[in-house]
Amino acid sequence: MERLSKYLHRNEAGLWLTENERNHLRISYHLKSVIFEKISRFQHVMIADSYDFGKMLVLDGVVQTTSLDGYIYNEIIAHVPLSLHPHPRNVLVIGGGDCGVAGELCKYREVEQITMVEIDELVVHACKTYLPEISGGMDEKRVKFIYADGVEYVKEVHNRFDVIIIDSSDPVGPAKQLFEPGFYRNVHSALKDDGIMVCQSQSPIFHKDIMRQTYFNIRSLFPHVRLYTSVVPTYPGGIWSFTLGSKKPIASGLKHPFDKPAQYVNDEILRSCFHLPQFIKNELKATSDALT
Ligand code: SAM
Repeated sequence: MERLSKYLHRNEAGLWLTENERNHLRISYHLKSVIFEKISRFQHVMIADSYDFGKMLVLDGVVQTTSLDGYIYNEIIAHVPLSLHPHPRNVLVIGGGDCGVAGELCKYREVEQITMVEIDELVVHACKTYLPEISGGMDEKRVKFIYADGVEYVKEVHNRFDVIIIDSSDPVGPAKQLFEPGFYRNVHSALKDDGIMVCQSQSPIFHKDIMRQTYFNIRSLFPHVRLYTSVVPTYPGGIWSFTLGSKKPIASGLKHPFDKPAQYVNDEILRSCFHLPQFIKNELKATSDALT
C-alpha cells in the first residue's frame, strides 16, 4: 500500500496536499507529484509539483512559496527596504531558506554582503536542488550562509547591518520566537544607526492579532514604522502584511527610479504599497493609541 505523509491524501481525482489553515478552513492543492520529502531536525520539508501553482516548498504541510507567485512576496519584502535605505551594503536575512529573497538582493550592485541565517540547512538544499525557479539567480560569492537560529544569532551582533529582512515561516515551531519582542530588540541593536528592518507580519484578514502585535512590538522600538501590503495568492486571505521599522525618518519618495528586473515591483508599487485599506488603518490606529 502507498504510504503518504500526513499532509497528503489520494482520491479518485489524484494526489492532494491539504493545508490545515485554521480550525474551520482547509486548503487543498491538487498535486502532480512529490519531488522531495524528508524530515529534518526542525520540520517536514517537501517540494511538490502542483497543477495550479507549479512547484512549491511546503514546510510542516504549509505552503511557503510557489513558482507561480513566489516572486511577489520575494520582491516586495526585499525591494521596499532596499529602495528606502540610502546605502544598503550589508544585509541580513533571517529565515528565507528558499533563497528567493537573497536572489532579489543580489540585483543591487551596492550590496556587498548578504548574510543568510537559516535554521534548517535541508530547506536550502531542497530549494537549491529542486526549486531553481526560486532559489536560482543568486550571486553566491556575496551570499554567506549561516545555519543557525536567527534568534540566537542576533543576540551576538551589534551595530552591524544596514538592512535586516525577517523572512520567516508562520509563528509556530522554530519561527515562533521570531515574532517576540525580545527578538525585535536584538534586531534593533544589530542594525546600524540608520538601519531598516522588515518582517512579514501575516494576514490582515486572518491573523489580525499577530499583525497588530507585530506592529506594536516594532513601534515600541523604532521611531519610524510603516506597514505595507501585497497580494500573495497562496497565502490565506490573499492580502499579506509587512512591517518596516526604521531608525531614521522614512523617505517619502524613492531614492531613484526602480531599475531592477522584476515581475511585481515597479515605481508605482513601491510608492503605493504603503496605502492601506481602511480596516487595516483602523487596526493600527487602535495599536498606536495604546502606545500613546
Ligand atoms: N515566504 C515564506 C512565507 O512567508 O511563508 C517564508 C519562507 S522561508 C522558507 C521561512 C524560513 O524560515 C524556513 O526555511 C524556516 O526554516 C526558517 N526559520 C524558521 N524559524 C527560524 C529561526 N528561528 N531562525 C532562522 N530561520 C528560521
